Amino acid sequence: MDFDKQRKRMVERQLVPRGIRDGRVLTAMGAVPRHLFVPPGQRRYAYDDCPLPIGPDQTISQPYIVALMSERAGLTPGDRALEIGTGSGYQAAVLAAMGVTVWSVEIAAGLSRQAAANLGDAGYADAVSLRVGDGWTGWPEEAPFQAVLVTAAPLDVPRPLLEQLDEGGVLVAPVGLSVQDLVLVRREGGGYHRQSLIPVRFVPMRGRAESPSEGD
Ligand code: SAH
Repeated sequence: MDFDKQRKRMVERQLVPRGIRDGRVLTAMGAVPRHLFVPPGQRRYAYDDCPLPIGPDQTISQPYIVALMSERAGLTPGDRALEIGTGSGYQAAVLAAMGVTVWSVEIAAGLSRQAAANLGDAGYADAVSLRVGDGWTGWPEEAPFQAVLVTAAPLDVPRPLLEQLDEGGVLVAPVGLSVQDLVLVRREGGGYHRQSLIPVRFVPMRGRAESPSEGD
């Protein structure tokens, strides 16, 4: 199977026609070997236009959604990004391929271990730091971040993640139950400006996000 050819086709047929324009995103998506981030039995589907299972109730997002979140995060090389929901490590690898340094939190220890192995195999281990825990609290020791990408859906944006944004920084997160809104929040002039992008479907954020009243 020619994965290089499939990956090039993924960029040309799934990303460019849907409006992904950022050259750094297109180059990164054309470079990161997505097939190394899915279970061996799924490799032949790695470049298809859909999410794929990576474990019990967990999925690696559709390539277009990864590209859209990477583009809307507005990152430039040398920036620092926080990801909540490491999963397979693929989204983190795409950011790393854009020259961004990544901190990523995953609640399931087994997935985090597998992501570490995937990132090592794909050659992105040095640019990505992983932590096992509830991403609701973010990674305060490493803040501020120029972008926060949330890849599991909370019912509302966790306050600590907003507070860990740099001035001018952007948070992208699926928010809601079942079918969610992909929201973009920009920290600007002492406030937070929020807009909705598109409806999306991510797995729910577990842990503290399930009882937000206790967290605030
Ligand atoms: N970004 C991943 C896909 C994420 S799937 C990729 O590129 O492959 C959503 C992930 O969020 C799952 O791995 C799930 O275990 C994790 N998750 C759910 N709730 C979480 C929480 N509170 N903190 C951190 N990770 C969480």
